Amino acid sequence: MSQCFSESTTLRVGGPMARLLTVRDERELTQHLAQIWQSDEPWFVLGGGSNVLASDEGFDGTVLRLATRGIELVPGAAPGYQRIHVRAGERWDDLVAWTVAHGYVGIEALSGIPGLVGAAPVQNIGAYGQELSTVLSSVDFLDEGSVQPRRILASELGLGYRDSLFKQGWLRGIISAIELDLVPPTDSPTATLSESVAFEQLARALDVPLGERVSLARVRNTVRALRAAKGMLLDPSDPDTASAGSFFTNPIVNEHVARSLPPDAPRWCLDPEPVSEVVPLTPPESPLDAFHAHRASVVTEAAMRDAPSATSRTKLSAAWLIEHSGIHRGFRLPGSRAAISSKHTLALTNRGGATAEEIAQLARYVRTRVHAEFGFELIPEPTLLGVEL
Ligand SMILES: Cc1cc2nc3c(=O)[nH]c(=O)nc-3n(C[C@H](O)[C@H](O)[C@H](O)COP(=O)(O)OP(=O)(O)OC[C@H]3O[C@@H](n4cnc5c(N)ncnc54)[C@H](O)[C@@H]3O)c2cc1C
Repeated sequence: MSQCFSESTTLRVGGPMARLLTVRDERELTQHLAQIWQSDEPWFVLGGGSNVLASDEGFDGTVLRLATRGIELVPGAAPGYQRIHVRAGERWDDLVAWTVAHGYVGIEALSGIPGLVGAAPVQNIGAYGQELSTVLSSVDFLDEGSVQPRRILASELGLGYRDSLFKQGWLRGIISAIELDLVPPTDSPTATLSESVAFEQLARALDVPLGERVSLARVRNTVRALRAAKGMLLDPSDPDTASAGSFFTNPIVNEHVARSLPPDAPRWCLDPEPVSEVVPLTPPESPLDAFHAHRASVVTEAAMRDAPSATSRTKLSAAWLIEHSGIHRGFRLPGSRAAISSKHTLALTNRGGATAEEIAQLARYVRTRVHAEFGFELIPEPTLLGVEL
């Protein structure tokens, strides 16, 4: 019997996969990819399924799962750092646990994010004041059609807020490994201090001022506790965690658009000084140029409505916008088995037996309400496979 996405994704929805191939080492990866590239059939690479909404019809092609494991110290980092090579099939949170146990500093606040290492660069995972982009050195990548990985520097990946060339579709293929540059332990691993705490809620939970450093284990435990309280730590006994995490990204708009919101709307200025975005008239030369041109035009689109020349970017809270368009925690459409999490407005959850279409209907409803109230299109964060919002 074929495997269904409902068994392999944290939203627990989605129909059958025509074919599922699991890869345990580099040799199997080469063999399977040679087959997939030759067949001309559709393909999809699935990690832990924690950021995918797959349709009830399923996927009429090959789904590839990477189960390649390995965390190794390798040379090459700048003085004061240690380079770490990690294969794509490692669980992200196991990697964080390993770095904390061995005293490597830089990803401790990214504790508890579900999924596999290979997917982490796809949306440049981030939480509690840390983001992958600040420690990622490179990825090993097999372009569609190729069985030879090439190394791509992090600076060439267009990493931004929950965004990358992979997510935008400019780089299509398989990430087989990543390399991180982390700060190695100075004394014993348990005495090693974290990065400066850069997120207010985390500082409050730790009972320290922003900028303070505490033990790596304390950051990890506190982040995991904060996540559990919000239903953002996978737990089969908590129905609020049958989700894809945050379903929408926080909108980034022009400061003038942000000013049109009520004063209590949370906002974060992303540019210290207003900048002028220039959209090139000539065709972009590389995927990275094309991506930056695309990103500029997306930001500019919202900004132009109110102020055609100034585009200082402001990030808004999608959760606040949803709540203030009248949708509250626990909300569900009549008769639906999909609901907003009872702990976090940004998570759409499966309350048991929901279909992908029920999740999609709820997502459409949220988008429509926010658009009607504030004029913004919320952008979905998960990969949509055969689903349209
Ligand atoms: C409870 C919960 C909390 C979450 N909290 C956070 C959070 O705090 N911050 C955050 O950023 N995200 C968060 N997420 C989202 C999610 O965990 C991350 O995006 C994670 O990196 C997805 O990993 P995955 O292995 O599950 O990827 P999947 O969901 O399987 O795939 C996601 C995308 O990556 C692609 N992909 C997967 N593996 C590869 C590969 N090897 N090569 C190329 N492409 C690949 C897939 O094709 C797909 O497009 C949360 C999700 C849940 C359910």
